[in-house]
Amino acid sequence: MHGLGIPARGIPAQVDVSNRRQGENALRESVARFRSAFDDAAIGMSLVGIDGSWLQVNRSLCDIVGYTEPELLATSFQAITYPDDLEADLAFVRRVLAGEFSSYHMEKRYLHKLGHIVWVLLTVSLVRDADGLPLYFVSQVQDISRQKRIELELARERDLLQALMDNLPDNIYFKDRESRFLRINKALADLFGLDRPEQAIGKTDFDFFTPEHAVPALHDERQILSTNVPVVGRVEKETWRDRPDRWVLTTKMPMYDTEGHAIGTFGISRDISEMKIAEDALTHQALHDSLTGLPNRTLLRDRLQMALAEADQSNTRLALFFLDLNRFKDINDTFGHHSGDLVLQTLAARLQAEVDVQGTAARLGGDELAVVLPATDERAAIAAAERILSVFNEPLTLEGQVFDIGSSIGIALYPDHGEDPAVLMRRADIAMYAAKRGGDGYVVYSPEMEQSNPTRVALTRELRMAIATNQLVLHYQPQVHLESHCAEHVEALVRWNHPDHGFMAPDTFIPVAEESGLIRPLTAWVLNEALRQVAVWKSEGQDIRVSVNLSTRSLHDPEIVETVRVCLERWSVSAGNLALEITESAIIIDPDRALDIATRLHDLGVRLSIDDFGTGYSSLAYLQRLPIDEVKIDRSFVSDVIANADSAFIVRSVIDLAHNLGIQVVAEGVEDSTVLDSLAAQDCELAQGYYISRPLTADAVLPWLTTRGH
Ligand code: C2E
Ligand code: MG
Ligand code: MG
Repeated sequence: MHGLGIPARGIPAQVDVSNRRQGENALRESVARFRSAFDDAAIGMSLVGIDGSWLQVNRSLCDIVGYTEPELLATSFQAITYPDDLEADLAFVRRVLAGEFSSYHMEKRYLHKLGHIVWVLLTVSLVRDADGLPLYFVSQVQDISRQKRIELELARERDLLQALMDNLPDNIYFKDRESRFLRINKALADLFGLDRPEQAIGKTDFDFFTPEHAVPALHDERQILSTNVPVVGRVEKETWRDRPDRWVLTTKMPMYDTEGHAIGTFGISRDISEMKIAEDALTHQALHDSLTGLPNRTLLRDRLQMALAEADQSNTRLALFFLDLNRFKDINDTFGHHSGDLVLQTLAARLQAEVDVQGTAARLGGDELAVVLPATDERAAIAAAERILSVFNEPLTLEGQVFDIGSSIGIALYPDHGEDPAVLMRRADIAMYAAKRGGDGYVVYSPEMEQSNPTRVALTRELRMAIATNQLVLHYQPQVHLESHCAEHVEALVRWNHPDHGFMAPDTFIPVAEESGLIRPLTAWVLNEALRQVAVWKSEGQDIRVSVNLSTRSLHDPEIVETVRVCLERWSVSAGNLALEITESAIIIDPDRALDIATRLHDLGVRLSIDDFGTGYSSLAYLQRLPIDEVKIDRSFVSDVIANADSAFIVRSVIDLAHNLGIQVVAEGVEDSTVLDSLAAQDCELAQGYYISRPLTADAVLPWLTTRGH
């Protein structure tokens, strides 16, 4: 009895007997209550001897491990211990017996009678007698298999997600609302210089990037969380603490919990540094003159546009100079192109030094140069022109030869002579010719000079007639598919069958059409004629897709969408049989308008193509925004692809860049088989050029296809 600690001393005899009986009854009841509480307990319970044998087990424990009570009692606790855990368990028991601690609490595996694992939460305490000698263990066992299974499943899902993230080449992260990393993938951990992705948890961008990148990133994430508007496909520069800057294409979006609350952000970014370097090289090449390093015509137009916007804002005036060297042709003819090049380089450097601080000097081509001078007036502009003339008139000694070169400068002023870049450029050009007629010197534009240029006015009048009387003709140049060798695509190229001058090339009259507003009826005529021809070919059994060139102006003209739709309908030609070629400059001049019109054209189902790619800005950012299906690499790069490493590099990177964006590539101006083979080897899809076929008359197209075997 003493084991239960009931006191038994100093009680009178008579009372003693009845009291004892009462006591025994109470005790029996208490034991019975205890016994049934033990047996019926919802958790498993047992008393285990010091030697590991069961002293008492309850029903729940038996249920957990699948034994009946007698069966279990016939074993020891080792029977249900998972074999691999036995050593560790015994070590624990020894430590308890040694008095290191009196109880322990742990998650562990039991072995079910049928052989499977049952996860339990086990509490074991040692009961000692009054002298501190160990008596037996009391254990409580709670079945946690269900929780454990859920936990394991969650862990497996987490591992699966991590494996998925780790196998992607892009950098992926999740951040909490405070922009701390919750999770990153292996690629990003490598960049961060971490051994394991988990090491990023709790860190922020400030741990890895300079504030130049980390601050705007933080701002972005706040913005995303407050507005729920994601950032999709943006080109960003990352400045790292301990590695070179990188360019990335990044997408960031809010992350929601099951109730729809934004709990953080998710981001994915791709390193496009190589592409960006190629693109920058492309842009530089596209915007600069390779001989002198000066900005070219495209960049000049852009700078002029910016300067005009600024002048408009600040209410200042601006001057545009066109310069032409006067005896340059003689130098080229007499001393050779090499000397001519040196002269140009030297003069370009002098010009740049002269205008460097205030303005932009550019080379327009040949011996034509130009200058934009902001914040000036007529007097200051004239003073600048005189300075330039005197610098150019200084004799030039190159390789022992003295050259004497003069120049003529035409000056147009904003807003006096025009408010539009094209108008100002044309007027500076007119003034330059006036200056040239007068010998060395400068001339400021005046409207009378225009009248002395009757050919242009006449051409405009004649062109108007030409459109109305069908003097225009379309020729069609086939494009071949480099893999299948199929040729079902042609580009429509307009010619003017002029009554006096014969066939005129588009370069001679398209600019006139653009300036006079005749481009709209001309484009409508071309579209109508090209689609009529497609319908004719269809009736003759040949399904042909035609590409039509759109002028820069057309892409800013909302009417074009309706014109295209009506023409398609009129000739019952499906939109898939029409491609429209647009140029980069159309996009740069007014991106929002161009994007809107391009999108509406694309929505009609018409294919959109960027013509003369590489000669404009070639910006990845613009290409991304536009619904473009194809780019046509300009023939200046294509024809040079074998001989010139720069061109080869540009062709290679345009193809890569386009393919990365899911855009097809057409190479223009293929003039021989080596170029064609090189393009095919680089996975360029389509090719066009004299080597394949010159532009053909409409009648010649089907016979050409037939002789090719298609
Ligand atoms: P583009 O759209 O780049 O057209 C290709 C030009 O390259 C055509 O000159 C074609 O004859 C020429 N070409 C084709 N293959 C080769 C080759 O292997 N080597 C060489 N050296 N040249 C080749 P084209 O017909 O004189 O057209 C010149 C430009 O006029 C076109 O350039 C296009 O921008 C414009 N254009 C032509 N037709 C139209 C039109 O209907 N509307 C508008 N807005 N512009 C047009
Ligand atoms: Mg074209
Ligand atoms: Mg082209």
